[in-house]
Formats: sequence, C-alpha cells, structure tokens
Amino acid sequence: MNFADSEVVNSILLDEGMVPVQTAEEADVIFVNTCSIRENAETRVWNRLKEFRSLKKENKKLTVGVLGCMAERIKDRIIDQEQLVDIVVGPDAYRDIPNLLAEVEDGRKAVNVLLSLEETYADISPVRTSGNGVSAFVSIMRGCDNMCAFCVVPFTRGRERSRPLESILREIRELSDQGYKEVTLLGQNVNSYKYEDIDFTRLMDEASKVNSEIRFRFSSPHPKDFPEPLLHLIAERPNLCNYIHIPAQAGSSSMLERMRRPYTREQYLSLIERMREIIPGVSLSTDIIAGFCDETEEEHHDTMTLMEIVEYDLAYMFAYSERERTLAHRKYEDNVPEDVKKRRLTEIIQQQMAIQEKNNKAEIGNRHLVLVEGESKRSAEQLSGRTDTNKMVVFDRKDFKKGDYVEVEITDCTSATLIAKPVAKSSITEFFAEPALV
Ligand code: SAH
Ligand code: SF4
Repeated sequence: MNFADSEVVNSILLDEGMVPVQTAEEADVIFVNTCSIRENAETRVWNRLKEFRSLKKENKKLTVGVLGCMAERIKDRIIDQEQLVDIVVGPDAYRDIPNLLAEVEDGRKAVNVLLSLEETYADISPVRTSGNGVSAFVSIMRGCDNMCAFCVVPFTRGRERSRPLESILREIRELSDQGYKEVTLLGQNVNSYKYEDIDFTRLMDEASKVNSEIRFRFSSPHPKDFPEPLLHLIAERPNLCNYIHIPAQAGSSSMLERMRRPYTREQYLSLIERMREIIPGVSLSTDIIAGFCDETEEEHHDTMTLMEIVEYDLAYMFAYSERERTLAHRKYEDNVPEDVKKRRLTEIIQQQMAIQEKNNKAEIGNRHLVLVEGESKRSAEQLSGRTDTNKMVVFDRKDFKKGDYVEVEITDCTSATLIAKPVAKSSITEFFAEPALV
C-alpha cells in the first residue's frame, strides 16, 4: 500500500518539475513515507528521521517531510518537540504537497493531515521509479471500515472508499503498454470493493480482460464475506493467479471474536475447503498475530492447529503490538508477557517453516510457469521469478530475460525457494491451454 502511495506522490512531485536523485545527500527535499501498523515499523521511521537530522544540519536548505500513516499520530511531536521535519502530510492530502512546500519556502512548518471521504487519487497516474518493471501494484480502494480490535488502519487511513472502475482499468492499460506482466490489486478489504453497481468479482473480470498475458493477484480479501463467484472466475481464467492471501489472524473462535473478526474457526475452514474444491491446487497464504490480549495457551494452540490443517504456502506472522486509539488499546489489556508472545510467535514460525519445506518438496518434478523478475540475489548466472502460485523460483539464466514467462521443472527446494531447470519460453495462453482432446 505504501509503495502505491509513494508512486502517487512521485507523480505529483514530477508534475511540479522536481527530479529524482539517487542519494539523500543530493536531495533538496526528502519525503519519508510511513507505516503505523506495528511499533517496529514506526521505530524504523524515527531512526531514519534522526539520520536525516544530521543532513539538515549540514544543508540548511534541506526540507524533510513525513508522509502517510504516522502523520496524524505524531505531527506535534515531530514538528515541535523534535524539530526533525518541516512538512507532515496525511494519506489523503498528497495533492496539497506543492502548497505545503511553498509554505516551507516562506519559512513556516506545514501540516495537512485531513482525512477524506472521497479521495482515491483516481485521476493521478502513479509513476513507478522503483520496482522491477515487471510487476506493479494498483490501488483499488482506500481506508477501511472494519475496525478489527487490534488495527490502527481505520484511524490512520480513514473511511473505506472505492476507486472508479474506469480509472483502475486505465491504469492497467497504461501498465500493459509499458510492458508490465503482473498486477496486484490492492485494498485493505478488497472484497468490499463497490463502485456504482460494480463489485470486486466484476472488477477482477474486467481487469483480467485488459491483457490476457498480464497475470493478476489481489490483496487482501476478508474471510468474512469472500465472494464465491470470484473463486469460479479464478478457476476459469488463466491469468487470474491460483493464489489467495486470506488472513486468518487467529485460529480460535473466541480469539476471533475478541479481535472483532466476524467469522469463526469453522467458517474460515469451510471457506478454505471451498477454495480448494473450486480451484484445485490453489496456493494459500495468511497473516497471523501471536499474543493478542488475553490469549490463552489453548487459543495459541488453536492457531497452531489451524495453520497445520490449512498448510499455507506462505504466512506473515507478527507479535501483537498495541496501537493507540484501537479498541484493544481502549478496552483490553496488552497482558501477554513479551517472553510468552515471543515464544508463541517462534513456535508459529517454526511450524510454518516446516510446512513450507514439506509443501515445497512436494513440488519437485512439477512444471510451473514462472514470470522472470530479474537476476537472482545470489548469482548473476541465475534468474528469479514467481510461479502463478506465488512461489519464488531460481533457475539458470540461459537466454531468458526479465519479463519472460518461462516454463520450468522444479528440481530442488528450500523452505523459501524452489530451484528449477528451465524448459522453454512460454506464455500464459500457451501454458494454461486445455490439453487437446484426442
Ligand atoms: N486489511 C488487511 C490487513 C492489513 S494490515 C486484512 O484485514 O487482512 C496487515 C497485517 O498486519 C494484518 O493482517 C495483521 O496480521 C497485522 N497487524 C495489524 N495490526 C497489528 C498489530 N497491532 N499488531 C500486530 N500485527 C498487526
Ligand atoms: Fe485493519 Fe481489519 Fe481493516 Fe484489515 S480489515 S485494515 S486488519 S481493520
């Protein structure tokens, strides 16, 4: 989500005639885009701002700004108390950046942290100055109305609103013209996308028709109301990836209720079953929080067994971190001791690594279509990319290049990566074609 926001800001700054530079030392203006989701994300921002404070001492003309989720929470502290920054811009106020920069030129500190009910930056074409040139994120909605007890997003990013279909399709067409091959549609709760009479399934349908050689993912749907027609569409449409990120957060119904996640363990597991029935071989990933308020050993155990049953291919696992203003902060006590949180998280991670290794071993001998993202981190002789099911694969470079779809055969693995031998350059249409009837 932050990458997508930074790309909107790039566009606004380039329109103002600004030019990107490669290092902080060369810059006249530095913006730090921030995340508030967990305390360690905020700690990293503070450290970064302290680094820039020394640059500000050397270069009196340097302007430093804070963008995004932390803006509202900390505007007073960063501007007045710590004198670290000149501009603070909330996630709905990026259009105001040129005015705010002008205020700073006039010698004032500038703040706009107003949240909006409408802003979707629909008319702004994000400018992608980083990334691999092959996969892109496209934001389809902003904010969230769900109010999960642990989550600060509804407070930092405001109410949920959907971006007009036509503006999303226009952006995807632009990406297609620029040679992008993979698009991930983003929102805090994508299955509540609603623009006029267009729902999320229809949006995926329209998006996937823009170019049959661009493949599509999305993040994140909510388990409470995942639309079944979308499962059928994914099963039928070759360029909708057989991969679903479906955050469980916890494995016991009592904990889910405390978290204000309106589904039970049983409902979640039957959704997973439907996914596997309708899309055979679908790959699943999740988000899990360890050590939320009042978590008992039994509830922790339920999270472990849920993960064991589902056998996710990937999981993002976090220790609970209390955030101001959330329901949990106001009404519950962050009462699982740090060492217990850490121990539970470690158990969850270790079990998940073992599951991933097992799942990956079962891939040996299988063929996949990999979209090449670039050189492998370890060796220039190897390329890396992902399967349709979102698994990272490395293989010998040969004559293949970034942006190619390559059919590969899996030969080996670790818990995080598949190792493969390339078979031939291919395409979505060719690889997923129904075998000819004889
Ligand atoms: N809208 C997405 C989640 C976005 S936040 C969804 O509902 O799935 C990404 C993840 O951060 C969440 O799924 C959750 O696992 C984690 N998270 C959010 N708040 C947290 C907190 N206070 N402490 C620890 N993890 C948190
Ligand atoms: Fe946060 Fe819940 Fe909204 Fe996700 S759905 S952003 S976890 S409040």
